[in-house]
Order: sequence, then structure tokens, then C-alpha cells
Amino acid sequence: MGIYQTFGLQPIINASGKMTALGASAVDPAVAKAMADAAMDYVDIQDLIRKAGAYIAKATDAEDGCPTPGAAAGIAIATAAVIAGTNLNLIEQLPFSEGFPNEIIIQKGHSIHFGASLTQMIRLGGGKPIEVGHANHVENAHVENAINERTAALFYVKSHHTVQKGMQKLETFIRLAKQYQLPLIVDAAAEEDLRFYVAQGADLVIYSGGKAIGGPTSGLICGRATYVEACRAQYKGIGRAMKVGKEAIVGLLTALQRYDVSAANATEQLRRMKWLVDQLSDIPGLKGEVVQDEAGRAIYRAQLKIDPHTAGLHASDLIRQLESGTPSIHTRNHYGNIGIISIDPRPLLAGQEEVIVQRIREIMQP
Ligand SMILES: *Cc1c(COP(=O)(O)O)cnc(C)c1O
Repeated sequence: MGIYQTFGLQPIINASGKMTALGASAVDPAVAKAMADAAMDYVDIQDLIRKAGAYIAKATDAEDGCPTPGAAAGIAIATAAVIAGTNLNLIEQLPFSEGFPNEIIIQKGHSIHFGASLTQMIRLGGGKPIEVGHANHVENAHVENAINERTAALFYVKSHHTVQKGMQKLETFIRLAKQYQLPLIVDAAAEEDLRFYVAQGADLVIYSGGKAIGGPTSGLICGRATYVEACRAQYKGIGRAMKVGKEAIVGLLTALQRYDVSAANATEQLRRMKWLVDQLSDIPGLKGEVVQDEAGRAIYRAQLKIDPHTAGLHASDLIRQLESGTPSIHTRNHYGNIGIISIDPRPLLAGQEEVIVQRIREIMQP
């Protein structure tokens, strides 16, 4: 019996991705062991946070790093850092920031909901979000014209949640940040490349520890030393309400040490998803293929297209039946409305693709 079942919860097979709603990542045993060891001992927390920064810096090629309890907290802390710096009076005054440069400029198509509102996290850190342009169209002038003496930072989001067309590119934000000597914050929560945005010149880059990194519920900010110092300083202010535990920090560092976006991993994903598609190839009305991630990441998912006339059921029926069984199987359903469901290999534990195949066969060929 799994640990969650001992507390009366449903067993889950997560084939949908690194979804917060399903617990984001199931960590490697080495990460779990490191967290257990950390939980059973004492450490100077200030030293741990500072040392964690050095390890994060190494993993990201940044000047320094700061652990957080998640990327959402990272947004609030990074915002607070660019507004209050290391000034204790200001730090303790946040999120009230009237009278100080507190405007955070973000493109309208980047003002997303990732399970909660991104701009709310900016406000939590004392920022006043300034959404520029239109939901599907932003020009350089929209961004540049919004810059004034109250601007605290520019904010760029890299995510499949954002509007993918019509937005200004990262280069625009890097150029304007340099030109106006403003910090650039990048939310790269679910991205796999931990070095790219720092290398491009972003001042603070935010990642989720529980997504691509495969760590526990945690997060990190990396970037320029002065701004990262200011991030750490927020733990005397609003950051205290977002305390990151010693177990989470040690789990995050262990996951970072083991992290590499290796080709071997992609090959293994491909193999498992090809197998799954093969096993379902004789089901009438189901057409499977392996496709790469729409955002270009090295993720290979099985995509199952359901033709309701031949199959006798809609994709939405299959989704519902997979979820209502035991174990409850959660697929990736962004295209469910057009009859496509996807199986994400990343969160699947060993052998779970076999359970999925068996269950789909039971449902579609009773
Ligand atoms: C998931 C996500 C977040 C929040 O990350 P947590 O680690 O769950 O707090 C923030 N921004 C984006 C773009 C995300 O995808």
C-alpha cells in the first residue's frame, strides 16, 4: 500500500505532466533519502541558505542563487528584492510600497494563471503589475512607453501557458533592461535549461524545483549577486511567510546534482511511448503517434487521437473513465476538446505504461 493510501487517498497514475495538482514530481530515492536525513538533523539555516546559493550558482552558471519554497514564491521574493533591496525598513514595510519605484512591466499575453494568478504573486511582493499591449499583440513601443521613474523591473515569462504569438521576444526585454538600467526578472518555472536565461543577461531567473528539475516541492532564484543578496534578505520580510524548509533545500540541491537534460532520458521516453502506441495500434478509432513537446523541449509524448464515430466514444469519455478507475489515471488533456489525449512519460513510474495500455484496452474493447 502506498503512503497516501494509508491516509485514505486514491492511488494515482500521473500521465499528465509535472502537475502541481497531482504533486508535481515523484522524487528519486536518492533525493528522498537526502530529505529524510536533513529532516532528522540540525543545521544553521542562514549558512544552509547561503551554501545552497553557491550550489545553485554552479548548476545555473549564475553569480549566486537563493532557494525558495516554489516558483510562485520566487516571483513574490524576486519582486520584493527589486523594490526593497536590502533596506530592512523597506523589507519590513512590504507589500506596501507606495512612493517607491514599484511598477513591474509585463506583457498582457504573459499575465497568466498557472494554478494561481501570476500578477497576484507580483503584488504579494509589493509590486504593481503594469500589463502592456494586448492579449495577442505587443509591440516594442508598448513596453518602452510604460517605462518611467516608478518602474522597478521588467518581467518576462517563458511558459507554454503564455500566448505564444504576437509577444515581444526575450531579446526586446534584455535590450530595454540594459538601455534603461532596469533589472529583468524571468519566470522560467518549468523550463529544462537552467543556464540559458542567465547567459542571455537576465538579472533574476525563477525556477520550480518540482517541475523539470524533478526535486521536491521547492524552487530557486538565480542571477546577479546583488539582486540575489536582496532576495535572501526578504526572508526577514514577506519571505518569512514563504519559509523554505531544510529538507526541501537539501532535496532541491540533491536533485540539482543529479540533474542533466540527458539524451539518454529522451531516448528512454521515446522507447516507452513507442511501445505504448504499438500496443494500442489495433484498436478501431484510436490513432496513436509519438510527438515532441509543442514548446520544443526534449519531451516525447504519446498522442492518442480518438475518432468518436469508429471508436464509439469521445476522448472526453475516455478521459473520464480513465480517471474514475482504480488506480485513477490522469492523462494530459490540453487538446481533449479536439479529440486528442496525451500520455506524458516523465512522471510515469516504472511499468505504469503497461497499466495504462491495459486500462485503455478494457475501456475501448470491452
Ligand atoms: C508552475 C508555474 C509557477 C509556479 O510554480 P510553483 O513551483 O508551483 O510555485 C509559476 N510560473 C509558471 C510559468 C509556472 O508554470
